[in-house]
Amino acid sequence: MKLILRFGVVITFCFLWVAGVQAKPTEVTNVRIGVHAEKTRLVLEADGVFPYRVFLLANPYRVVIDLPNISWRAPFQRLEKPKGAIANYRFGLFRPGNSRVVIDVTGPVEIARHAVLAGDKKKPSRFFIDLKPIDAKTFEKSKDKVFARNWNAAKTPIEKPRVVAKEPPRRDSRKLIMIDPGHGGVDPGAIGLRGTFEKRVTLSTAKTVKHALEASGRYIVKLTRYRDMYVPLRDRFAKAEQAGADLFISLHADSIRKRRIRGASVYTLSEKASDSEAEALAAKENKSDIIAGVDLTEQSDTVASVLISLRQRHTMDQSAHFARFMVESLGKEVRLLRNTHRFAGFAVLKSPDIPSVLVELGYLSNREDEKLLQTKAFRKRVSKAILRAIDKYFARLKRLSKS
Ligand SMILES: [Zn+2]
Repeated sequence: MKLILRFGVVITFCFLWVAGVQAKPTEVTNVRIGVHAEKTRLVLEADGVFPYRVFLLANPYRVVIDLPNISWRAPFQRLEKPKGAIANYRFGLFRPGNSRVVIDVTGPVEIARHAVLAGDKKKPSRFFIDLKPIDAKTFEKSKDKVFARNWNAAKTPIEKPRVVAKEPPRRDSRKLIMIDPGHGGVDPGAIGLRGTFEKRVTLSTAKTVKHALEASGRYIVKLTRYRDMYVPLRDRFAKAEQAGADLFISLHADSIRKRRIRGASVYTLSEKASDSEAEALAAKENKSDIIAGVDLTEQSDTVASVLISLRQRHTMDQSAHFARFMVESLGKEVRLLRNTHRFAGFAVLKSPDIPSVLVELGYLSNREDEKLLQTKAFRKRVSKAILRAIDKYFARLKRLSKS
């Protein structure tokens, strides 16, 4: 009897899983965290069951849950303070076909239990995971374990996603501009007072900018991402290099404690930060890969190091010229922050050959800015400013090449 029952559960599971793959993606409808004396339990309620894989990361301590492409209807809020072992969590698309939940834990933990249970008429399907605090030594021993159910490991290795192959040379002689919508997928970026996600603001602005630049007929424009998906920092400028881009513009929107601060600002790369605020901003923006649950311990540190080559110095000069045009042009359209062009060690600006700037469009921590950044009018003004700055930048290069 017991065997038949278990067999039945397996069949139901397989049926639901296959049905889930063929029909619309499974939807996570609610997230619950339960704090018990011994453990902290995270529950994902869903309208079906799904395969999964769980693994642990250190520096900082994280728990990563990989899922197939799943949609989220669950409310999402950053935790104000830790709930048991869970300091915070987030979710989103990590790469095509692979959604991800990343849990920041308060210290080393072990996966005490994990399961997915099919729902019935009364209850939704549930995935749960129990986290139990342990000491750092025990964590070290067990950290390479992967806990999975029906997960196709061959299809999705744990290493970071690879960048696309080099593109053939362009026949079109127009300049190519790579626009980089900051954050995406499992990395939401800053979250506004009213819950606006930076990743959404940057993507919608990037699309408007692309449209405006292309409408001029003078530029080819590509984006580092076209949808709500995580892209590693290094892959962002690698994509620009592979496409043979002439300029790289990374779009962001910041959030800070001082709520009255607002306005746009422009940043370029440097070994030494221009001021402590720019340094703190770069440190925050550089965390994207950690936020997305990527293990950085074995990565070579081209991204992390701030050492700058001679070749890069020339590029940095060009970036500074472009930043100057950007500030000038942006100032005619939108409100700017004081001290608008600043420098710091932004990982995403580290292409040695492509002049790169990072634009913070405004502050999601400011009520007016948060509202403004979501308007079409603002996106259009920013696009106009970027187009004018790009025109001036290339006009200057043309003048220089003639003289
Ligand atoms: Zn950002």
